[in-house]
Amino acid sequence: MKYVLVSGGVISGVGKGIIASSCGLLLKTAGLAVSSIKIDPYLNLDAGLMNPLEHGECFVLDDGGEADLDLGNYERYLGVTLGRDNNITTGKIYQHVIDKERRGDYLGKTVQIVPHLTNEIQNWVERVAKVPVDESGREPDVCIIELGGTVGDIESAPFVEAMSQLQRRAGKNNFLQIQVSYVPLIGSEQKTKPTQRAISDVRSAGLRPDLIACRCETPLEESTIQKLASACQVERDQVVGVHNVASTYQVPLLLERQGFLHGIKDILHIDSMKKEQKLLDYGQIIWQEWQGLAMSQDHVFEVVSIALVGKYTTLHDSYMSVSKALEHAAMHCKKKLDLIWVESSHLEDQHEQTNPAEYYKAWHAVSTASGIIVPGGFGERGTEGMIKSAHWCRKNNVPFLGVCLGMQLAVVEFARNVCGMTKAGSAEFDEQCEQPAIIYMPEIDKTKLGGTMRLGKRATIFQPGTEWSRLRKLYGDKQEVWERHRHRYEVNPDMVEQLEKGGLSFVGKDESGKRMEIIELKDHKWFVGVQFHPEYLSRVLAPSKTFLGFFAASAGCLDSITELFKDTHDLSHREVRLSVSSLQTGNSLV
Ligand code: GLN
Repeated sequence: MKYVLVSGGVISGVGKGIIASSCGLLLKTAGLAVSSIKIDPYLNLDAGLMNPLEHGECFVLDDGGEADLDLGNYERYLGVTLGRDNNITTGKIYQHVIDKERRGDYLGKTVQIVPHLTNEIQNWVERVAKVPVDESGREPDVCIIELGGTVGDIESAPFVEAMSQLQRRAGKNNFLQIQVSYVPLIGSEQKTKPTQRAISDVRSAGLRPDLIACRCETPLEESTIQKLASACQVERDQVVGVHNVASTYQVPLLLERQGFLHGIKDILHIDSMKKEQKLLDYGQIIWQEWQGLAMSQDHVFEVVSIALVGKYTTLHDSYMSVSKALEHAAMHCKKKLDLIWVESSHLEDQHEQTNPAEYYKAWHAVSTASGIIVPGGFGERGTEGMIKSAHWCRKNNVPFLGVCLGMQLAVVEFARNVCGMTKAGSAEFDEQCEQPAIIYMPEIDKTKLGGTMRLGKRATIFQPGTEWSRLRKLYGDKQEVWERHRHRYEVNPDMVEQLEKGGLSFVGKDESGKRMEIIELKDHKWFVGVQFHPEYLSRVLAPSKTFLGFFAASAGCLDSITELFKDTHDLSHREVRLSVSSLQTGNSLV
């Protein structure tokens, strides 16, 4: 096993995750099977209970793991399927060590951060790195380890120590460290001092950076590179610049142009590793497709405006996977995405009185957008605004996509305004609701909040007589699709008949037939609500069918896109195979 540790210095939030995923992608194009582990030095067990406005979205995995959003980057860039153990937190590691201590596994020893905790971190990394993450079922050759935060933080110290021990455990040519740094631009001068300090901190912590990736606004000047190389005592080609580019999909190209992959191959002795021809060919296809897609956006001019009506819009990372899924769809439709963020509470009646400027601005965005998406969320705030936007779409034949909470609210809107249930609502906001269209799922634990929702990948069965469904057609008229879930509430099965009479179709249900998974309106351009979260399975080279359909309908090209994509693989079916035939045709495989 080879390890690539990606750590950060100076400040966090400069794109360490994108650099780490890009590095993984480049290794994949070299014919290697790549996995990844994200280390988050916070005490929470997982990201499930963290406020999206503070920490960005919670990314949901196949196995129901509620993970840091960086795992989404890896899945999207590498086309892999990760599990909950691929996200290590301080909370998880402590819990593991304390459980062992209680079992008596330490045989009377004093249990300490070093060596017990640091050993457990290394054991965890070694165990998880070996787990196959793609359909080839192959043990990965390389594992990218991203260490959250910055080196020098108190809370990341045990992980830094563990990594410096792992460096020795892994042995020569099996461990490489990339230190991501930040080079601020003051006036027109690129300042190197913060990076110099960060590198010296990393070294005193026992790590030896092999590559220094410098984030900066403008391309790194030759003089800056030379200065960094001499001040940090590294070779010139160990310094790589990552300046701002038009899209993050271009970062792998930017790294490749600077010989990044070559440098990694050299240090890790990649060329001497045995590789299957099939994977080498596959790597080449991925790279060609990636380059094509990443650059195509520079030559696309037709703009499609999508309004995202949500309650966490002040931090765009809260909807990371949703916005990525929309980007993937736009790239494959060869259009430019203009994503307009609308705070749902601004659409509500009372807001017209309190802040008319915001109210009219929000309504202008909704009423002029080509399509409207209401994504997932929790709690009552802003939900009446979301209901109003679903109403707008239904009445005006504007493409609509409701995801999870968005789907539930579209059902409430329909119940109220079409079925005459004027008191319809969701039990999530009013437990005493007279006409609960959305109810608490019976099997969900009401006492514990962490990890107790209906989580992870589950089946949705298309119902008989729904062959007309636009979404079903795009899925290739499959009987069954598998998508990831995260919810506590669901459509009230007792109201389904009445809603159906009103004209709402429940085109997809779970295996029991009692849980509603997909709603759709027949006489509409595209009015779809899904209880699952299709955004979690959208990939750069294999866009989510649900998002693709929604975007194509908004762009006015649904028929041609359906024709083009109905037979392509979709990750949600776990059908991605490294088959010879798909290699030959070069279809989207990842
Ligand atoms: N709050 C809703 C529920 O728990 C929707 C959840 C979501 O959108 N992820 O069912």
